[in-house]
Amino acid sequence: MTAFATPVRDMLFALKSLTDFDQVARLPGYEEATAELADAVFEEAGKFANGVLAPLNQPGDVQGAQWSDYQVKAADGFAEAYRQFVEAGWNSLGGDTAFGGQGLPAAISVAVNEMWCAANLSYSLLPLLTQGAIESLHHHASDALKATYLHKMVEGVWTGTMNLTEPQAGSDLSQVRSKAVPEGEHYRISGQKIFITWGEHDCAENIIHLVLARLPDAPAGVKGISLFVVPKYLVGADGALGARNDVRCVSIEHKLGIHASPTCVMQFGEQGGAIGYLVGEPNRGLEYMFTMMNHARLGVGVEGVAIAERAYQQAVWYARDRVQSRELGGSNPAPVAIIRHPDIRRMLMSMRSQIEAMRALSYVAAVALDMAAVHPDAAAQKQQQALVDFLIPIVKAWSTEQAQEITYLGVQIHGGMGFIEETGAAQFMRDARITTIYEGTTGIQALDLIGRKLARDGGATARAVLAMAAADAEKARTCGETGARVADALQAALKLAQQSSDWMVAQFSGQPRAAAAGAVPYLKLMGTVLGGMMMARQVVAATLQRDSDPAWFDAKLATARFYAEHSLPLVSGLHVQVTGGADSVLLMDDAQF
Ligand SMILES: Cc1cc2nc3c(=O)[nH]c(=O)nc-3n(C[C@H](O)[C@H](O)[C@H](O)COP(=O)(O)OP(=O)(O)OC[C@H]3O[C@@H](n4cnc5c(N)ncnc54)[C@H](O)[C@@H]3O)c2cc1C
Repeated sequence: MTAFATPVRDMLFALKSLTDFDQVARLPGYEEATAELADAVFEEAGKFANGVLAPLNQPGDVQGAQWSDYQVKAADGFAEAYRQFVEAGWNSLGGDTAFGGQGLPAAISVAVNEMWCAANLSYSLLPLLTQGAIESLHHHASDALKATYLHKMVEGVWTGTMNLTEPQAGSDLSQVRSKAVPEGEHYRISGQKIFITWGEHDCAENIIHLVLARLPDAPAGVKGISLFVVPKYLVGADGALGARNDVRCVSIEHKLGIHASPTCVMQFGEQGGAIGYLVGEPNRGLEYMFTMMNHARLGVGVEGVAIAERAYQQAVWYARDRVQSRELGGSNPAPVAIIRHPDIRRMLMSMRSQIEAMRALSYVAAVALDMAAVHPDAAAQKQQQALVDFLIPIVKAWSTEQAQEITYLGVQIHGGMGFIEETGAAQFMRDARITTIYEGTTGIQALDLIGRKLARDGGATARAVLAMAAADAEKARTCGETGARVADALQAALKLAQQSSDWMVAQFSGQPRAAAAGAVPYLKLMGTVLGGMMMARQVVAATLQRDSDPAWFDAKLATARFYAEHSLPLVSGLHVQVTGGADSVLLMDDAQF
């Protein structure tokens, strides 16, 4: 197994050369987020990821988190790594300065999260879930709740969880049954939550659970769900930790991957009800969850990028090391390193070009998130919000679906050793598998894309995004032969993307089942096309900067061309699936399956 090295240079190139990152430092509150600051932060975070988190990844997978007697012990080294993480200030990077955070924009914190995820996906979920909980409290909690919880959570001495899922309520949260009964200033919470990431552990002093539950008089369905803060240890008026609350982890799941991330069954209220505090107004819990969804879904999309990068690095290392078979067409009869074989190179190029496209698109979404949050011009802010809303389901689902293929290729490049756990390639494939499921499955993301994001505005945002891509294609066309190839392939794909979008908008209201049948192919089509947009930008940036390091930038041109010639043509098949495949999806009745 190879040591992991955070690809700091690639990440900085993607952020600085392929997005509007330079505009972020012009936004109010983000003046310090300059290119130089990004250089310094990425360098230091990369060292922490490589040196502290990455070495725990494989032992953590083998050992896993351990449950006994309602306690969960994190895998060896995780608690100490978390202590160092907090001490070094990494938890507070994107936190509000009013609560002790460093106030850096998503453009930087999202990329830094990529480093944690690549180094150790199981570990990264602990701070990621805390960030989600912080954001929900920040936007919706009372000043008193914020004062009690946010400083410690931003610092990282207390961690956060998101308690949404119940046995009967997964994708469909309208079926949540947990109860909240008023009692003076607080509520008594009871019910069972399942699949709660880092719901219990020994890495922090306190765990702050955000819990969806229903009040006694709540209307049925999604409009009757409220959000509560339920701390593991109650917090006194002076901020000191008090009695243990009535919430317990009754078991943890045995699962396919992310073994070191405890996935907990949480029981609330076995002894009379856990004390909880209402966040915001009653019955608006699900709406509040949506506030942090863009961040959380972007975060999971970035997990896809990260685990794919890890698999790629491992595969390159193995392909250089493993000697097998003579080189086809060569005169040397001796066997060569498998990296010499065209099929291995095809797989490595496929992995690398897709990672570059996915990474850049996720950073574009992060920059848009910052602009949408604080841009001083209302019209620009609205436009950026529409862009974010459109991109998020694509980044989440496309990057994580591609991560399945990329980690699969990582195993394939290892041959039989890929199937053997000690190389680590299999772990990346297993760990990647959850990313298309949690935080909304691919199917749910695709429905969100075609409904709320595409059809609701009659396709206006999609048209604007595709026009942006067309402009990038034409800029690339001015950049030599590679630019012309990328521009042609992208323009051809864009035509089909527009036709698919028009078809989807036309079908959505009258034929919703037909539209839904094509939703996932449509999402993948848009991801592939927008990946092409990023590759067009890469051609322009690499051409402009080439003289400073020809070999490095030529590699960027090569991956852009590979993407244009191997990934963009897939759009035509996806277009057929979207516009012509819906009928066959629905041909058989239930009994025929
Ligand atoms: C390791 C792990 C960690 C998790 N962490 C957390 C956590 O921290 N907090 C938390 O609250 N939850 C967490 N979850 C739960 C996770 O978010 C859910 O598993 C996920 O939302 C899917 O719900 P479900 O498992 O009930 O699947 P279901 O909702 O039963 O879905 C089953 C299948 O049906 C499809 N489907 C459902 N509805 C539709 C529809 N309308 N149209 C088309 N297809 C549909 C889905 O796409 C899926 O393929 C975690 C899960 C796991 C496995």
